[in-house]
Amino acid sequence: MTDIHIRTEGRAGRITLTRPKALNALSYDMCLAVEDALEAWRHDADVDVILLDAEGERAFCAGGDIAEMYQTGTEGNLDYGRRFWRDEYRLNAKLSEYEKPVISFLHGFVMGGGVGLGGHCSHRIVTDSTQISMPEVGIGFVPDVGGSYLLAKAPGRLGEYLGLTAARMGPGDAIHAGFADTYIPEADWSALKARLCETGDAGLVEAAAQPAPDSPLAAQQPQIDALFGGEGLQDLLNMIKGDPSEFAQKTLKTLTRNAPLSMAVTLEMLHRLRTVTALSIRKALELEYRVSHRIMEHGDFLEGIRAAIIDKDRAPKWRHDLSSVPAVDVSRMLAPLGKEALQFRERGMKIGFIGLGNMGGPMAANLLKEGHSVTGFDVAGVTVDGAATASSAAEAAAGADVVITMLPNGAILRAVADEVIPAMSAGAVLLDCSTVDVDSARAVADQAAAKGLGALDAPVSGGIGGASGGTLTFMVGGSDEAFAKAKPLFDIMGQKAVHCGPSGNGQAAKICNNMILGITMIGTCEAFALADKLGLDRQAMFDVVSTSSGYSWTMNAYCPAPGVGPQSPADNDYKPGFAADLMLKDLRLSQQAAASADADTPMGEAATKLYEQFVEHEDGAGMDFSAMLPRFEKRGRS
Ligand code: NAD
Repeated sequence: MTDIHIRTEGRAGRITLTRPKALNALSYDMCLAVEDALEAWRHDADVDVILLDAEGERAFCAGGDIAEMYQTGTEGNLDYGRRFWRDEYRLNAKLSEYEKPVISFLHGFVMGGGVGLGGHCSHRIVTDSTQISMPEVGIGFVPDVGGSYLLAKAPGRLGEYLGLTAARMGPGDAIHAGFADTYIPEADWSALKARLCETGDAGLVEAAAQPAPDSPLAAQQPQIDALFGGEGLQDLLNMIKGDPSEFAQKTLKTLTRNAPLSMAVTLEMLHRLRTVTALSIRKALELEYRVSHRIMEHGDFLEGIRAAIIDKDRAPKWRHDLSSVPAVDVSRMLAPLGKEALQFRERGMKIGFIGLGNMGGPMAANLLKEGHSVTGFDVAGVTVDGAATASSAAEAAAGADVVITMLPNGAILRAVADEVIPAMSAGAVLLDCSTVDVDSARAVADQAAAKGLGALDAPVSGGIGGASGGTLTFMVGGSDEAFAKAKPLFDIMGQKAVHCGPSGNGQAAKICNNMILGITMIGTCEAFALADKLGLDRQAMFDVVSTSSGYSWTMNAYCPAPGVGPQSPADNDYKPGFAADLMLKDLRLSQQAAASADADTPMGEAATKLYEQFVEHEDGAGMDFSAMLPRFEKRGRS
């Protein structure tokens, strides 16, 4: 890539932004390249220190590259921006928490994304040309990239002032506000960098430090604290309007230009962050991401970019007047995102995926979409777009962090496990999502544990629709450590993962659930057939039962009678949905488990026999499992 130069020099890992014509604006690819470099150097014994600097005289980095976000956002594609932000925020946290010293050389403009890159490092050096700011409210956004964290920790109400006015900080101000640590004149930088590369000793920064220049903001601090001490945007405006000083009037003028909703949300963010016990950059980034996730749809971001950098008319039409930003609009921006919340998981886990059929294929595709790398293998030669294809299960498993299997049955799982376990790296996790017998699940887990691997049995419910939509429910057996490692993957492939206990318990939960399902479906179908013979209208039957003590998922959500209740496979000639063959498989597993555990399951046994009869001796194969209703309908008592 020409926009960034990553290399090692002596004892230093070096990252130099080389896009001076664009004021070193940070693109998505640059962001990923920095993260990859940090990962590569994390355990590299030859790298003691990281140096982060930029070419050109005018800027270290004037922000994130928002042109592409505008382009995709105006086309209705919100995913690009959200992914950029998520990956960028994870990088911001990584820079802040990195195990080795990271030294940033912050010359010229350091704005927005530039603060995210250089403002969280362990050693932040400023010079006379430095001008740091968080200008987001001017384009209808809020201080992000961990900027809200720095603002919330700034002395007094300086955070509110800097966040709402986008005021620029010179070197003295940046140090006073906590955005930088050390002043070193730029003339000394080149020699310092050379010595840092030679020795890898970050202590040289301290030794080269010179007294920081004065901070005009420090002198103004009492007035800023008085003007920006109110609870809401209106309180601030009233205070500022009531102050005739030149500073207050200039500040007022600035505030009237910026996006009202953005300012109100920024204020609320800072107030909330200050009350967080053990405030961390992660907590701030998580809050910021709530806004980023929604800002294109519900905020002024696209309009702000249009006015500032696309049409350059500098006349944005904000959604709200300065005098009226409803509190509910602010709360809505900051409401928790649930499943969409920012995760600090690693991008790019290496995943081997074995069994790319109806379920495995779409599950693998969802993992790819979230930036993981997938190597797939299926005996039938099935491939998934974007995934590497291995020529054997062992090849797919080699070097993977997690190996996922999605296979037809326990015997095949055991055979595949024999092949992949010896090929897996120590510490990796074997994650089986197939529905198999409890004994096979436990045997495979023991085999994996003996080789120092984690193992999880995690059968799913939700069917093919859930696999494509990423809304499966996982029932998981295995250790806490293995569950924690796989959790980010469950979050992508599903809506819920329940940790049911040690190995085999996931399959136990699945088998028990599906035994209830099979029994209930038969009960529901035979009751409809009886109602027919008693002359009771099916709709009337549904209306009563679905709100009475006979209600069940099979009646209320998956009604087997065509034209009654919500849409279900019955309305589509009983094409599966959930095939009767698969129900038979699961019922047999329940009976196998019941026999091995000496459990009495007469209803499960009866249901198994009925589905066996239906699938193997009648016309049930290839039909939905609710097609039991037409079967009962045709029969008499004998
Ligand atoms: P599928 O038959 O479509 O897929 C299984 C895949 O495994 C096939 O592509 C097959 O070629 C491959 N395979 C078989 N042996 C292999 C081997 N030795 N090495 C590599 N690949 C091999 O089945 P599916 O519908 O995807 O179901 C997979 C599992 O998920 C099953 O255990 C099933 O019970 C369970 N399940 C399915 C559903 C559903 O609605 N389909 C719902 C919940 C659970």
